[in-house]
Formats: sequence, C-alpha cells, structure tokens
Amino acid sequence: MQKRVKKRVGIIGGGASGLICAIVASRLGCEVTIIEKNTKIGRKILASGNGRCNITNKKISAQNYHGQNPSFVSYAIKNFDRIRLENFFTDLGVEFTAIKDDRVFPMSLQASTIVDFLHDGCLEEGVKIYTHSEVKKVIKRDKFIVKKSDRDFKFDALVVASGSAAMPSLGATFIGYEIARSFSHTINPLFASLVQLKSDDPFCKKSSGVKIEAFLKLFVETKLEKEISGDLLFTDYGLSGLSILDISREASFALLKEKSVFIQIDLLPSISLSSLRNILKKKSKKFKNKPLSLWLNGMLHKKIVLSLIEKLKFNKERTLTTKEIHALSYAIKNLRIEIKDTKGIKSAEVMAGGVDCTQIDPKTMESKLHKGLYFIGEVLDVDADRGGYNLHWAFASGYIAGTSLGVV
Ligand SMILES: Cc1cc2nc3c(=O)[nH]c(=O)nc-3n(C[C@H](O)[C@H](O)[C@H](O)COP(=O)(O)OP(=O)(O)OC[C@H]3O[C@@H](n4cnc5c(N)ncnc54)[C@H](O)[C@@H]3O)c2cc1C
Repeated sequence: MQKRVKKRVGIIGGGASGLICAIVASRLGCEVTIIEKNTKIGRKILASGNGRCNITNKKISAQNYHGQNPSFVSYAIKNFDRIRLENFFTDLGVEFTAIKDDRVFPMSLQASTIVDFLHDGCLEEGVKIYTHSEVKKVIKRDKFIVKKSDRDFKFDALVVASGSAAMPSLGATFIGYEIARSFSHTINPLFASLVQLKSDDPFCKKSSGVKIEAFLKLFVETKLEKEISGDLLFTDYGLSGLSILDISREASFALLKEKSVFIQIDLLPSISLSSLRNILKKKSKKFKNKPLSLWLNGMLHKKIVLSLIEKLKFNKERTLTTKEIHALSYAIKNLRIEIKDTKGIKSAEVMAGGVDCTQIDPKTMESKLHKGLYFIGEVLDVDADRGGYNLHWAFASGYIAGTSLGVV
C-alpha cells in the first residue's frame, strides 16, 4: 500500500494563533513546523491580562471587533465561540473562571498556564518548534521557501501567524506585513490601539500619579466620538488607565487622519454641576478665612486641586467670587485636555490595521490571491475591544486555519 505523504505546513510565529493552528493541523495529519523569533513561545500571551491572560469573554459578538471589514470575523467567532474555546483548552487540561465584566481567565489566574498547555499540546502532536529563529523573507517556487539567517525551510503551505508590530519588546516585528506585501496583499493603514495618550497640558504632569474614577468624553474636532466611565491615571506624558485604553482606538485613528483630539473629563461624576456649585458656594463661605488650596482638598486629590488652581489662574489664598465658583465647578465637570499623540507601537497592546481581509477567505483564512498561503491573528486588519476579544480572535482564526489545512 502506498503511504500518503503528509502536507508540510510552516507556521511563522509561536504566539496565540500559531500555536493553536499547529495543534489542530497536526491532529488532522499535517507535518507542522513553527518558526519563532523569541527564545520562548507565547510571550504576548504571558504578558496578557497583567500576567493573568484574559483569554475570552462571556459576551462576544462581531460588534467587539474593528477593522475595515469587521464582519470578516463572524464565521470564525461563530464556529469557534467561547464554549468551543473553553472546551479546546479544557481538553488540554485548563479550567476557567469568569471575573468582572464577563472576562474569562484560566482558573489558575496565570497566563503561563495557557502557554504551558499549548506547548505541551504541540509536543504531544509532534509539532517541531524552532525558537530563536527570525524569519527574514519568504519566496514561492513550487513550495514556500522560508528564509532565516542560517537556513531555509520548504513547505507545501505557509501560515503567517507573526502577529502585529505592537510592543517590539515582546518580539513583535513587521515581517507579517512585509510577507503579505511581497505576495501582492494590501496592508490597511496601521495605528496603535489600546494605548496610552500623550498631552502637553501641564495639568497632566502636575497631577502625575493620581488615579481617579472619571467620566470621559472624546471629541474629534468638535464632534463627540465616544463617552466612557472608568479609571483614569494622570502621568508625566499625558493620560493612562483603563478608560483611556478604551477610547484610544478612536483617538489614535483621528490622530492618524491629523484631526484635533480632545478629552473632556468629569473629575467628580457622582455630583451634578448644580449640586457641585452649591457645595462650593457653601464651602467657600464657611472656609472664607482658609486658603482655597486647603478646603478644596476635602473633595479632590491635593495634586488635582493645585493643578486646577493653576489652570484657572486663581489666587489660592483668597475666597472665590461667584464667577470663580462657576468657573471652578465647570472646570471640575468639564476639564478639557488636548491630545497630541499616542504612546505609539512601543506601548500599544494591539495594532489596528493590517492585511486587508477582503483578500482572505473568512472560512479558511487562506489568501484569495495565493493558494496555500494563510494569515491568522493580529497581522490581519482585525482588532478588538479590551476584554479578551483579541486573544479570542487569535485562537479562533488559528483554529479555523488549522482545520482547513487538515482537509486533504
Ligand atoms: C501587554 C499586552 C497585554 C495584552 N492583554 C490581552 C488580554 O488580556 N486579552 C486579550 O484578548 N488580548 C490581550 N493582548 C493582545 C493579544 O496578546 C494579541 O492580540 C494576541 O497575542 C495576538 O496573537 P497573534 O498570534 O496574532 O500574535 P502574537 O501572540 O504576538 O504571536 C506572534 C509571534 O510571532 C513571532 N514573530 C514575530 N516576528 C517574527 C519573525 N520575523 N520570525 C519568527 N517569528 C516572529 C513573535 O515573537 C510572536 O511570538 C495583549 C497584548 C499585550 C501586548
């Protein structure tokens, strides 16, 4: 009997999407090799969710995803939904727990659990893993030839799972986009997402280190783009905190288009403007012999008080006039900070933009331009909200590609 020759599959990148793809394709009979630049696989998984790995979310839909063709994700997240993802990992040995905001984590609350079990799954299926091996180029003759500094690999099918360029300190590179371009794929404009924002407003620097619960409005030019509540951290360079990460995509996109971006902050969201005005009036009367910088500390952080006094150019030693009370209460409810830039790809958790999804088959992740060439994970023009959706996409797209590779 003639022995069937196994399909040789090369995967560039041993991250979330590449590792799951490798396990699935191997189980379906492919001979799989992962080529990974870092000395260890899964570095971004290890950094995810502050080392706890927010792997998916109990509420997941195409609306959590962005890009020029957001409905592209629908097939993958329907066919590899949250339950399938959990079952896949439970089968490897991982248990899960859901905490705040329906976010799902491994029960151990350790990201290393996910990497260890994926690694073990690869070894069990006989996946060859080459670490410390940076891919420099790919060419196509009768096979895909993957070039790294010291040797070439030949594959029947090639999966680009090299992620986005966000956070080069974790191994991220532009190689995925370069390979895509060399195979005539379009790369949609890249910009940082889930990233801190820069401002040169002295208020930020003066209030550096202060974290508050705030209500934010993002304005692009004069249009209100997004509103959000959450924690906000003032820093030397500008603004950080979860609320900022959650509006950073819209801000980053507007900055890419060279539009003006402002964030309006409600520093005391639990009090209405009129109540605040009344409180300030009473306090200013009661404490008329005490400096403003002292009595306002009863409501706001000391640093914020000093920054406000400086921004409004008040005399901190004397009582406020009625006009000043109006100006102060308005500023507390509507502090306006101009955003100049994002902290960029060095700090971004995610990169928006990437390989144009209209050139990829959503049911297989195979290129519509080159048979046998696949793109999965964040290298594609798919990015998502914070909350486990990015990793879910990496795993879902990797699973879909792995299944498709196994079809003879
Ligand atoms: C700090 C941080 C925290 C995050 N937290 C979360 C979270 O809690 N939940 C969530 O859903 N998402 C989170 N994300 C996003 C999530 O980690 C990514 O979306 C996901 O890892 C993307 O998977 P991927 O397989 O496409 O790419 P990656 O996981 O980045 O894998 C790509 C792999 O390719 C390798 N590679 C790159 N270039 C080359 C080359 N030239 N040759 C060989 N190998 C190469 C890289 O070293 C890497 O191992 C976080 C990201 C960061 C940076």
